[in-house]
Amino acid sequence: MKYDFVVIGAGVSGLTSAITLAKSGYRVALVEKSERTAPVLRGFSRKGVHFDTGFHYTGGLAPGEPLDIFFRYLGISDRVTSFPFDTEGFDVFRCENPGFEFRVPAGYARLRERLCEAFPVEAKAIDSYLGMVKAVCASMPYLNLDAEVDTGFALRRVLGATLKETLDSLTGNELLKSVLSMHSLLYGVSSCEVSFTQHAAIVGNYYDSARGIRGSGLSLVNAFDERLKLLGVDLFCGAEVTRVLVDAQGAVAGVELASGAALSCPACIATVHPRVLLDLAPEGAFRPAYRKRLGALEETVSAFMAYAVSTAPIASLAGSNLFLLPEADCLNRLGQSPLDKAPFYLSAAYREGGGDPSGYIAIFPSLFKETAAWEGSSSGRRPEEYRQFKKEALSIMQRRIERVCPEIAGNLQYLEGSTPLTLRDFCSTPYGGLYGVKHMVGQYNPQTSTKLRGLYLAGQAVVSPGVMGAVLSGLLACGTILGHDRMRKELKACC
Ligand SMILES: Cc1cc2nc3c(=O)[nH]c(=O)nc-3n(C[C@H](O)[C@H](O)[C@H](O)COP(=O)(O)OP(=O)(O)OC[C@H]3O[C@@H](n4cnc5c(N)ncnc54)[C@H](O)[C@@H]3O)c2cc1C
Repeated sequence: MKYDFVVIGAGVSGLTSAITLAKSGYRVALVEKSERTAPVLRGFSRKGVHFDTGFHYTGGLAPGEPLDIFFRYLGISDRVTSFPFDTEGFDVFRCENPGFEFRVPAGYARLRERLCEAFPVEAKAIDSYLGMVKAVCASMPYLNLDAEVDTGFALRRVLGATLKETLDSLTGNELLKSVLSMHSLLYGVSSCEVSFTQHAAIVGNYYDSARGIRGSGLSLVNAFDERLKLLGVDLFCGAEVTRVLVDAQGAVAGVELASGAALSCPACIATVHPRVLLDLAPEGAFRPAYRKRLGALEETVSAFMAYAVSTAPIASLAGSNLFLLPEADCLNRLGQSPLDKAPFYLSAAYREGGGDPSGYIAIFPSLFKETAAWEGSSSGRRPEEYRQFKKEALSIMQRRIERVCPEIAGNLQYLEGSTPLTLRDFCSTPYGGLYGVKHMVGQYNPQTSTKLRGLYLAGQAVVSPGVMGAVLSGLLACGTILGHDRMRKELKACC
């Protein structure tokens, strides 16, 4: 089969790329190794309750905000219904020691007001911080459709000050610093590693607004799927790409599938984890230094997770997520605390058909090494020792949750868990990273263009994790191919 473009991987970034290219009149094939598109976003159901996996909520999706514009451009906005999380506290920060609670309201002005109420002598630091976050978002290509697409932004994310350094320069108040760092749980990098620029580009959208999608990640994927069909994208699921083929001139010529079949094309967009990309690229396609760099990229934190069905509605999770921290400074060492002392994140699970939260999803950041002893095993075929370990981890998580959130205690009907090993296999990340590779100071992540002619990259490693980051990466990759001016003009027409 001959295509103009083959897109490798049908996560959000691959779906975005395929739709954008097909909309532009190209013949596109989208190849996904799982049986269905966007496996990370589909979630699963137990006892009539749907548990989200790779999508709970997002920033920047209110009408007229960037993700809303992107969804309109992609032709999926009529197929998804978004709704605002609690505008007076979409995220709730709860610290055990010292005891402190902060509810994050939607909108910069309201957030400033609430922060100044909680930290009255810190108004100057709060203003500086929020001003800096806004400035970063305004300078980010595609988030701001007038911002220049240059290398400056990428460099500031790698060479600039860390979030911790920036906050230390603004205030000595550890609780305030912790509240402003709480969203590091959404990108899986400690505040002493992530650059302020990267942090701001992600949280700035949540400060504007936080919204969910009715039917959640699954309805988002269904909307993408319908659009692929309408645009005539050829979708190959259950088809793993094993090799990118290169012609005698050293340019992309196609991709080879595990079945032995080949799809020929002069160009492709790979959205896979950078380490997977190394396995796909032919020997000599990349310079040794580039290969070494991709191979050494550090991965975001992994996690133990718990999924529970409750017999009573969980009011505290209606329209809000809980961020629970044992101590104010624990976000400086994400993943390094034992489970009974780790910070964690709780989000609602809903009965199919809606209503009040009927369960929860808990994410406890942790390192892959906790389960490395069983790394040779595969899903459904783990040894008994691992199963016992997982059971114990689950009961530690349950005890922690019930201690910190007494409103949840005593109502559990069903509980299931996952470990870093589960995440490794589910998310196709070599070390179970929740969000692929880290975006951090000193780490040069791949960009959309590569030295291999015809090979472009998208995915959470390129811009940032999250649905917003994945969509942005797809648009940036297509902008590199089609021309950024053209893409921005088309996007502006959707404003
Ligand atoms: C537990 C969890 C909770 C999250 N919560 C949120 C949230 O609330 N909000 C939010 O915005 N984001 C959230 N995220 C992050 C978000 O889900 C991801 O950042 C995003 O889905 C990444 O999309 P992607 O396209 O870059 O990567 P992926 O979805 O990983 O896509 C890559 C695809 O490539 C496929 N693939 C790999 N190798 C091959 C091959 N050789 N051939 C063919 N296909 C291949 C994979 O199967 C995969 O489908 C969460 C993630 C996790 C894990």
